[in-house]
Amino acid sequence: MDKVDEQLAFRLKKTFKLYIRSALENALSETPSESNVLQTIINMQAAIELIGKFFVLQREGWKGIIKGQFHDKTEAELLLLIESGEIQTTPYWKNKEFFSNEIYLNVDDIELLDKFQNHRNQVMHLGMSSSPNEILNESIWFMVRVINQLDWQDTLLMHDQYLANSLKSLLGDGLYQKLLNNSCYISESVDRAYEMYPDDMKHCLQCANESWALTNNLDRVCFVCGYRGNQDVFGFADCPLCEVKGEVVFDALNIGFNEYIRGKCCSCREFVNVSKCKICDQVSPHPQTCDSCI
Ligand SMILES: [Zn+2]
Ligand SMILES: [Zn+2]
Ligand SMILES: [Zn+2]
Repeated sequence: MDKVDEQLAFRLKKTFKLYIRSALENALSETPSESNVLQTIINMQAAIELIGKFFVLQREGWKGIIKGQFHDKTEAELLLLIESGEIQTTPYWKNKEFFSNEIYLNVDDIELLDKFQNHRNQVMHLGMSSSPNEILNESIWFMVRVINQLDWQDTLLMHDQYLANSLKSLLGDGLYQKLLNNSCYISESVDRAYEMYPDDMKHCLQCANESWALTNNLDRVCFVCGYRGNQDVFGFADCPLCEVKGEVVFDALNIGFNEYIRGKCCSCREFVNVSKCKICDQVSPHPQTCDSCI
């Protein structure tokens, strides 16, 4: 059934990206109109429904998001049903229940999640008599607190999923800059990173914000730009230039094979050569001698 998973993933990924871009474009409009507010609500809610479904698909396979009455179909039948649009997927509340148990949501986040759903229902069923302007700010919080936890990096091309500025790939350059420059996105993301992982925060190698956290899965993930990678890939040494501890990032998998390699300080953003001590394995700036062995 790999092909069924593949087809569903292809559709969800593509459509999620269209909705999230449209939601943020409307939310960040310079002179927001009533239409921008409505479009933000509708597109943001559609984005959460699709990325939520994709999140379940990634973990449970196609049966996790397709209604039970289709579970005994053959692969060929399912592909035809997908193609003709006759396949039925599980309702949002079910996927919401699933992802709510997997991610961190505080009381405010749960309220926010319900709020968007209610606003959308109101818009679609009766129309709204007045448009809630605070929704534009709330949509940025929604992105930071909910959508950013649902691994949207997995909807991108493989080379944009890891060790890349994934958010820029998701939104495109213009919208990415607008989000970072014209909203509370960065400060909200840094706050969220500290709220969840206060103990081991670094400046992001990619976007330089202090939001590169070590998560429970032992991945390093930037809460601003989505830059992520397995913690084992990264080594951290002290910076001789700005003297900040443990912010020179180097390639931990290759340092043993080279006399020295080039690292980059996440704090002062300068390149620093580092080498591994042949006696105690400590990594220090090169050619300085190892502190521990003097
Ligand atoms: Zn970053
Ligand atoms: Zn430095
Ligand atoms: Zn040493």
